[in-house]
Amino acid sequence: MVRHSSRIELSLSALKQNINFIRKKIGHETELSSVVKADAYGHGISTFVPMAEKAGVKHFSVASSYEAWEVNQVCKNESSIMIMGILYDEDLEWVIGNGIEFFVFDVSRLKGAKKVAERLGKKAVIHLEVETGGNRTGLDEAGLSSALKYLKNNSDHLQFEGFCTHFAGIESLSNQFRVAKQQKKFEEMYKQVQNSGYLPELRHTASSAAALVFPDTVMDMVRVGTAQFGMWPSPDIYNLHLQQTDKNRDAPLKRVLTWKTDVMHIKELKKDEFVGYGTSYQAPEDMKIAILPIGYSNGYPRALSNRGEVIIRGRKAPVVGLINMNVFMVDVSHIKDASVGDEVILIGRHKNHVISIRSFSEFSNAINNELVSRLPAAIPRVAVA
Ligand SMILES: *Cc1c(COP(=O)(O)O)cnc(C)c1O
Repeated sequence: MVRHSSRIELSLSALKQNINFIRKKIGHETELSSVVKADAYGHGISTFVPMAEKAGVKHFSVASSYEAWEVNQVCKNESSIMIMGILYDEDLEWVIGNGIEFFVFDVSRLKGAKKVAERLGKKAVIHLEVETGGNRTGLDEAGLSSALKYLKNNSDHLQFEGFCTHFAGIESLSNQFRVAKQQKKFEEMYKQVQNSGYLPELRHTASSAAALVFPDTVMDMVRVGTAQFGMWPSPDIYNLHLQQTDKNRDAPLKRVLTWKTDVMHIKELKKDEFVGYGTSYQAPEDMKIAILPIGYSNGYPRALSNRGEVIIRGRKAPVVGLINMNVFMVDVSHIKDASVGDEVILIGRHKNHVISIRSFSEFSNAINNELVSRLPAAIPRVAVA
């Protein structure tokens, strides 16, 4: 195998700690669905899913039938998969045939699913998603009413597994007025379900933020992405957690991901020379720089030009010049023995030096999830203890 220019390590002990923390928050009666859309938020489905199973996860949620297929390649037979987003008609046969659960937000989907289920002699496992104010996908009252009738009349082929919605920005306290309206709407629509006399197995609304600090959103199942990877959904949610637990500081979530590369080349510069393209960095004095084989095409944000930091030999080295397509430079004048082949930490920790995922958002305007979910699939991911 030819070596890639960087590597990502995933910590099983961090993941176990995060899952245990989330389980404590939601209680043992509630199912935890691990959201692994976007290649497990960039952590890599094929490495992450078996690790999550080791941490006790039995249910996975994805955004598309394609991602369901990716999870199905690597998960245990007894694990469940749920599609929350796009599912093409031509994939219904594979989805239903493999017992994969899916959101329904169009009554016509029920009709298509019933036909396929009947032909395969296998029930389609349905979660009705309702519109509560997010205005993405979801059935309105009239749609819900027809869907309930259709489900009831075709219960030989359609299993009414879930009743659900998704909150529009529950990670920000400034959105709480919207979320409160959505919760009320969800309850009203659930009354409509109860009145029909035909009930689902599960109700679910909560994502990470909701599961961590809004206990009344935690029902029979939660769909948690961000938090399982050790990232807080937002500063608001972290602060609410501190308030609720009466603590000044707390670090119950551990970053699962570490990203590393190596020093490719070292160069001595004379005072006043420029570094890399253009004139954005001019050496203020004689200096030594390290050239790294990583750039914006590898997921390292260009916005970190002249701003980011990495760790080499246990010391921080600042980015100098622009982030290029697959190269950037750091100042190692203060790291006397820095040499070609040295390990470079792009995201991660060495003793008390940390490059956090959050530090990227401070400069690049990207939310944590954006940075990690854009790490290219080609970077190898390995599980570590
Ligand atoms: C992405 C997603 C989640 C998980 O959200 P996190 O905030 O990352 O936990 C839950 N539900 C739906 C419908 C989603 O699209």
